[in-house]
Amino acid sequence: MPETEIQELIGTAIGQLAYSYAPYSSFRVGAALLAQNGRVYTGCNIENAAYGPSNCAERTAFFKAVSEGVRQFRAICVVGGPEGRLDAYTPPCGVCRQVMMEFCQPEEFEIILATGIKDYKVYTLKELLPQGFGPGNLSKESEENGPGNIEIC
Ligand SMILES: [Zn+2]
Repeated sequence: MPETEIQELIGTAIGQLAYSYAPYSSFRVGAALLAQNGRVYTGCNIENAAYGPSNCAERTAFFKAVSEGVRQFRAICVVGGPEGRLDAYTPPCGVCRQVMMEFCQPEEFEIILATGIKDYKVYTLKELLPQGFGPGNLSKESEENGPGNIEIC
């Protein structure tokens, strides 16, 4: 992925920190998800007084895209930190990695962790979720179609 495209995604993810709703942890997270169609879907973490209903920034972005019929993705950038300070990389939690596994090719989908426009590291989903369980594990047919192309009746 070209550096300018990566930096654009980082900038968008950082912009999402302003929308983070994190009154309990104060840990703000922003995400920018690049779809194969070239569109970018944004997300922030959204906490809840009951804790359980909280949603991560990554899944917010994925669910926005999927709810609009988009199921093929190239990369996601994730940034976050206490009070939105970007002192360290914020890798996706296990639940979010599993959601990525549902819609993305593990060897190709890129996860960009950043603390600034020029300070970032790029991983593949396979690197962050080795031996992941995905749609291909459930049926031969879904494996042939690839993730994200399963017809659900
Ligand atoms: Zn998560």
